[in-house]
Amino acid sequence: MRTPIMAGNWKMNCDNPQAEQLASAIAEQAGDIEGCEVIICPPFTALTTVADALSGTDIALGAQNMFWEEKGAYTGEISGPMLRSCGCEYVIIGHSERRGRFGSPDEDFTAELQKVFGDTDASVNRKIKAALSYDLTPIVCGGELLAERQTGQTDTVVKGQVEAAIEGLSADQVSRIVFAYEPVWAIGTGEVCEADEANRVIRLIRQTLAEAVSEEVAAQVRILYGGSVKPANVRGLMEQSEIDGGLVGGAALQADSFCELIEVAAEIKRN
Ligand code: PEP
Repeated sequence: MRTPIMAGNWKMNCDNPQAEQLASAIAEQAGDIEGCEVIICPPFTALTTVADALSGTDIALGAQNMFWEEKGAYTGEISGPMLRSCGCEYVIIGHSERRGRFGSPDEDFTAELQKVFGDTDASVNRKIKAALSYDLTPIVCGGELLAERQTGQTDTVVKGQVEAAIEGLSADQVSRIVFAYEPVWAIGTGEVCEADEANRVIRLIRQTLAEAVSEEVAAQVRILYGGSVKPANVRGLMEQSEIDGGLVGGAALQADSFCELIEVAAEIKRN
């Protein structure tokens, strides 16, 4: 049985006082929910604040990105050992926003951000290898743009991202990854992917892992769904057999809604 995960991606939200307040509220409300792993991924600047607020709880800390080098002249970058020293156990890698792939209708802004952020399949692969070498669990994201879905490319895009992400990794390394299927058009838009369609794409990810690695690894890896997960739609998603939890943006910024997601995931996956 795969233990579900509910991971909150706070993105570029919460200064330190706000982070302290939100993390403490989540710790208080979700601290004794059993049967669901909880991860909070605040901005880099709030990692130690959130680590302090979570100390003594089972809630884990994650970062939203990292660079693969250990240290050096890489102004503005953050390494795996730095994340470990803040108490991180997880790191999100290859989020569509880091790949410069946005669901935003503002194409000029998206094109500009693509140049600024610009994670690629190759950089995602390097970051995964580095994260694992520092004993950080990567939460590896992938998903199609709206235009890719509309032109029937969803499966090719997602399969390609997964294959590229695990290139050169051993079976043991792949077994330590958490994947997240995040259709870009569903992220931050309020437009959730139909639960059975999310389940289908996640099954495809599992099949891709089975072909590239082994059935055993594919069966044990946790694969989350992300994209406008809310209390109103979480139940249908968690009822799907292939979906092992959620990677949540907007609804993770309120303790009440995030804790409701955790409760529902724990309840449904327990049964
Ligand atoms: C995300 O940040 O990965 C995400 C899925 O955001 P939201 O839940 O706001 O769509």
